Amino acid sequence: MKILLNGRSGKVGLVLAPALEAAGHTLVDSLADAEVMVDFTAPEAALANVQAAVAAQVPSVVGTTGWDTGAVAGAAVPVFYAPNFAIGAVLMMRFAAEASQQLGRAEIVELHADTKRDAPSGTARATANRMQGEVPIHSVRLPGLVAHQEVLLGGTGELLTIRHDTTSREAFIPGVLLALGHVSSLPPGLTVGLDSFL
Ligand code: NAP
Repeated sequence: MKILLNGRSGKVGLVLAPALEAAGHTLVDSLADAEVMVDFTAPEAALANVQAAVAAQVPSVVGTTGWDTGAVAGAAVPVFYAPNFAIGAVLMMRFAAEASQQLGRAEIVELHADTKRDAPSGTARATANRMQGEVPIHSVRLPGLVAHQEVLLGGTGELLTIRHDTTSREAFIPGVLLALGHVSSLPPGLTVGLDSFL
């Protein structure tokens, strides 16, 4: 596919760009030449980028977190957003949702590099939304971290911990490729999460 990659010079973009080309996609420089727009930018940039793609009738695959996805809920072309493109993180969310059916008390600790701008993370909010009851989220931002999350579920005399660690940004590549394979056949408007593709 011909892809406009917004955020190509960023930490994710630098890993993603060669991976997209290695998978047979072509990177282009404008929406006019693009079949899909991929966005890994910043919370204040993503909405305008998606709205421009919608106006150009180009479907979007968005990884940027912390932006107002509701604003494109009724878009006339597909807009796919995943708060986390790592397959293991998607499974963590699925397992946490299932575990919370049985263990009613849970809290989430999410840990990211200190360069991450939004808190709590999109993954932590998406996990909590899928679980039973109120799930407090604790955010840690420190150098030396990449992206990590623990879901702690407490019962009488037991504790279940579900943990996912992203140790390098290569973790996001398979999920982005998976989304690119599905985005053109999605219905118009917003679709959230890789779950339905797995
Ligand atoms: P980053 O290293 O800060 O890179 C951001 C990129 O966006 C840079 O290329 C930057 O260009 C560009 N950018 C920033 N502001 C912009 C603007 N106003 N207009 C156009 N481009 C702009 O960030 P990152 O670590 O790559 O992460 C990017 C986003 O993806 C973040 O929101 C992060 O939370 C999210 N993320 C999501 C996932 C997921 O699985 N969903 C995984 C990792 C990261 P300049 O350098 O020229 O400013």
